[in-house]
Amino acid sequence: MFEHMLNEEDLLLRGAVREFVDQQVAPRAAAYDESGEFPWDNFRGMAEMGLFGLTIGEEFGGQGGTARQAAIVVEELARGCAATAVIYVAHISLCTRLIDLYGTRGQRERFVPPLVAGEKMGAFALTEPGSGSDAGALSTTATKIDGGYALNGTKLFITNANEADTFVIMASIDRSLRTRGINALIVERDTEGMVITPQHGKMGMRASSTAEIVFDGSPVPEENRLGPEGLGFKQAMEGLNASRIEIAAQALGIAQAAYESAVSYAQQRQAFGQRIADFQGIQWMIVEMATGVEAARHLVYSAAALKDRGLPFVKEASMAKLYASRVAVEAADRAVQIHGGTGYFAPTPAERYYRDAKATEIYEGSSEIQRLIIARNILEDMKR
Ligand SMILES: Cc1cc2nc3c(=O)[nH]c(=O)nc-3n(C[C@H](O)[C@H](O)[C@H](O)COP(=O)(O)OP(=O)(O)OC[C@H]3O[C@@H](n4cnc5c(N)ncnc54)[C@H](O)[C@@H]3O)c2cc1C
Repeated sequence: MFEHMLNEEDLLLRGAVREFVDQQVAPRAAAYDESGEFPWDNFRGMAEMGLFGLTIGEEFGGQGGTARQAAIVVEELARGCAATAVIYVAHISLCTRLIDLYGTRGQRERFVPPLVAGEKMGAFALTEPGSGSDAGALSTTATKIDGGYALNGTKLFITNANEADTFVIMASIDRSLRTRGINALIVERDTEGMVITPQHGKMGMRASSTAEIVFDGSPVPEENRLGPEGLGFKQAMEGLNASRIEIAAQALGIAQAAYESAVSYAQQRQAFGQRIADFQGIQWMIVEMATGVEAARHLVYSAAALKDRGLPFVKEASMAKLYASRVAVEAADRAVQIHGGTGYFAPTPAERYYRDAKATEIYEGSSEIQRLIIARNILEDMKR
């Protein structure tokens, strides 16, 4: 239903990722969700397919590519395993791409190729116990020392942190400067005074790891700072703006999977002597799901198209995330409903979609923060 908007290269990419997901990722998703084990085979599979090079500069091992292609990949991954999709986004969008975009030639040469090859894993750490939505209020400090900085503070809910080798960490050099005092620092695993503790008990996305990172006087060389002093917050926000299209695509993939599972179940399940798909009450739920998925898909790929054309896309990326995450939550809810009692139990994928979908309304800017961004952009547009 979407083919007319994709070119030949997009279709080839989607076909290859779809095959990988259907054959390898989706069949293992329930087991990984249940065990909470990190899906190393999915990570290696993505690396072998070259997916970690998408949108990354060719000079350092990447293959370039468009925001639309990144959205295609994330949508397909999330259709099979939403946790694998968030591992991908944290690794590529928020770590590799930030280094590729803002790094010096030396930093890119050193850090990007192993991330693209999947020999190393990336993570991005902004959130702290005392600051999430109000990210500019972060309290991790980067105190100047001879040749660099000493990091002190705690980061929370960091995707991939438990396995990652390369971290992009946001820390303040002067808290009185608020957002203009924040640096983005590349920190390597096993840095002195850095303790990573896995956080258990997530509602969904269980195959992705989430961890707390505590820094206690951790030394980071000055040459690991991304860009000039004080630009870290701006870099993080720019990174998040772009990666929001991918989180919207992730929500879309979950919604698509929920919709497909509901349609398939409704066609098999019998009640009152007929398929439940023949009841109008069920058909209307299916129609709502299908329409929501289609509308979300247009928002996601339209935001990606704006970005690919170098046009302003921030408002549209936030709209896509706000809308697609709501559609994912509603579609997963309807999928559970259509499955009846079966839907309330694992391993019916519907209950996993239900738990996974919720995260897309929280991370990379909650739905309330998306509304704030959209409102700000609308009001600014009106001033012009
Ligand atoms: C599974 C998972 C993975 C994550 N991965 C990462 C990661 O890799 N790196 C990272 O840095 N962070 C990560 N996060 C953190 C995530 O980005 C934050 O949880 C999110 O930004 C919300 O921040 P908070 O939890 O501190 O909530 P708070 O900011 O405390 O918000 C609490 C509630 O208040 C609302 N609220 C806040 N401000 C306003 C306002 N101005 N108007 C209206 N409502 C408001 C929020 O929308 C929310 O509903 C992850 C989180 C999860 C759940």
